[in-house]
Amino acid sequence: MALSGPSAAPRRLTVLGSTGSVGRSTLALIEQAAPGAFAVEALVAGSDAAALAAQARRHGARLAVVADPAAHGALRDALAGTGIETAAGAEAVVDAAARPADWTMAAIVGAAGLRSTLAALERGGILAFANKESLVCAGGIVLAAARRSGATLLPVDSEHNAIFQALDLRDPAKVEKIVLTASGGPCRAMDRGEMRAVTPEIALRHPVWKMGAKISIDSATMMNKGLELIEAAHLFPVPEERIEVLVHPQSAVHGLVQYADGSILAQLGTPDMRTPIAHALAWPDRMAVALPRLDLAALGRLDFMPPDPVRFPALRLARDALRAGAGAPVVLNAANEVAVALFLDRRLGFLDIAAVVEEALDLLGAPPVRGLDDVLALDAAARREAARMATRRAA
Ligand code: MG
Repeated sequence: MALSGPSAAPRRLTVLGSTGSVGRSTLALIEQAAPGAFAVEALVAGSDAAALAAQARRHGARLAVVADPAAHGALRDALAGTGIETAAGAEAVVDAAARPADWTMAAIVGAAGLRSTLAALERGGILAFANKESLVCAGGIVLAAARRSGATLLPVDSEHNAIFQALDLRDPAKVEKIVLTASGGPCRAMDRGEMRAVTPEIALRHPVWKMGAKISIDSATMMNKGLELIEAAHLFPVPEERIEVLVHPQSAVHGLVQYADGSILAQLGTPDMRTPIAHALAWPDRMAVALPRLDLAALGRLDFMPPDPVRFPALRLARDALRAGAGAPVVLNAANEVAVALFLDRRLGFLDIAAVVEEALDLLGAPPVRGLDDVLALDAAARREAARMATRRAA
């Protein structure tokens, strides 16, 4: 497939979550691509009307949608006279995702991205997948939608993108294990006492990756790796017990696949989301990206160690939820989202994040989820319980 040939039609592209970290990187990359390789169909943002309007003008989008209805007036004013359509509200977000496009970036953070991700999958085409929570909460539903429409799911999460690049699926039985690497985050070398005193400022200061607030906190608790474990179990035909996590502070190796003959294939690169996003943008080709290259000689060494299950219980909780199946991952994710928001708001301690998730899992277990409505109802119930548990801990 040629993306850049003079006669190739531009790939029509929609970005769900365009003002977030992954969305902004995606738009920056299409400016590096060959002229005419991409045309922007729709851009969707949460509430930042000014940033969304600037992106829509710069990229000549056909449609700009803001999820927060209160921001619609500002968006309309900012785009007046441009001919760019505007819309607002949760239904408009889903409608934007359903509009015809060849390539969609699903980068709305959290369970909030679920409906729009599904709408894009049902419409078909390529879905670049940065919303791990959709797979965690509704993996079966998401994959079934992709099968029905014939949509292609491309993982953008750096670890999963790495494994996707290294994975040879001609004979899945010959894949012995896959390994997700974790930087260990800003608390990697802390003891439990130090971790108890961690503030949002400390937890947001990630040593290697620059990311949004929610994922930075998840990285500090290692819940991010737990969510990624569940994500990997859905994306790749490898059973849970053959998916491992290794702490790798340099974040140069993003993922590894070990085969039956003892070979291990890995993908390496600088810790920069633009590389996996560019891979997904150009797939099955590759595009030239102007980024600093990984300098192994300058790096000098690559360290690997097993994660500490005592200091980082979130990883164990995620594996337990994955094994329990049914609604357990929904509960895990919802309780975590609530606890992280309260921690960022200084209403919950750092170590209490995992404690609230564990308590919510103990209380709600793994109820059956038959469809999206069940998922959303359980998500709401788990949020209520987690908020109640967090308030009691804070008191
Ligand atoms: Mg990741």
